[in-house]
Amino acid sequence: MVSAEHIVKRYGNHTVLQDISVDVQRGEVMCLIGPSGSGKSTFLRCINHLESIDGGRLWVDGELMGYRQRGDKIYELSPRDVALQRQDIGMVFQRFNLFPHMTVLENIVEAPTRVKGVKRDAARTRAMELLDRVGLAHKARAYPSHLSGGQQQRVAIARALAMDPKLMLFDEPTSALDPELVGDVLEVMKQLAESGMTMIVVTHEMGFAREVGDTLVFMDGGVVVESGDPREVLSNPQRERTKAFLSKVL
Ligand code: ADP
Ligand code: MG
Repeated sequence: MVSAEHIVKRYGNHTVLQDISVDVQRGEVMCLIGPSGSGKSTFLRCINHLESIDGGRLWVDGELMGYRQRGDKIYELSPRDVALQRQDIGMVFQRFNLFPHMTVLENIVEAPTRVKGVKRDAARTRAMELLDRVGLAHKARAYPSHLSGGQQQRVAIARALAMDPKLMLFDEPTSALDPELVGDVLEVMKQLAESGMTMIVVTHEMGFAREVGDTLVFMDGGVVVESGDPREVLSNPQRERTKAFLSKVL
């Protein structure tokens, strides 16, 4: 579903991603861990083309992100075509970014109706199904400010799912939450994984990585230091840098 080949990303002369290569199979969950500043968020933003890349190639579901290949020639896509590619990728951030002036239901209905031309009734029905799935059908008419952070984050997940993404990216979705609210959000993510969604999850929740992740990637300084089965990497890290990081967070 995702194939990143030798991704390079620079900001000025600061190389933030140096030759990153990873593959995520359809239906798999890849968890991404690493110290602050190691390039995790940048990598997620490159995958859904919120950032351009300076080297390498990114494939999502067989499509080269940002480009079109014809024979052996490669053309850059127009912003409009890039936007179309990005519709298939859902993203959930640390901050919930719901529209504050819209109800929960309106937040979820907005993109499918405006961007995809889905009829309002159909979009509402689907939104209610999604709200039910994240345990918040009873909050459909509430405004975001009346919800807890954990509830807002579950709405943000439902909102991303309303676009029927092929791939979901999560950037520290529970880091801004009070500890007692983290579990409900992780539970929703776990169910999503069990339903077969392909996911890349940047997280500090090692329990989630161990239980739900199919692979764990440890990044530091813009490179993949170590990756593999989460249980293996967490219990028996091979590299000194991985050991040092895990000794701080476990
Ligand atoms: P992480 O998510 O692992 O904490 P980031 O991907 O946010 O790391 O950042 C990696 C590095 O890239 C950091 O050194 C950060 O300062 C730098 N960086 C991130 N975004 C920008 C930007 N828009 N402009 C310049 N530097 C950036
Ligand atoms: Mg980050």
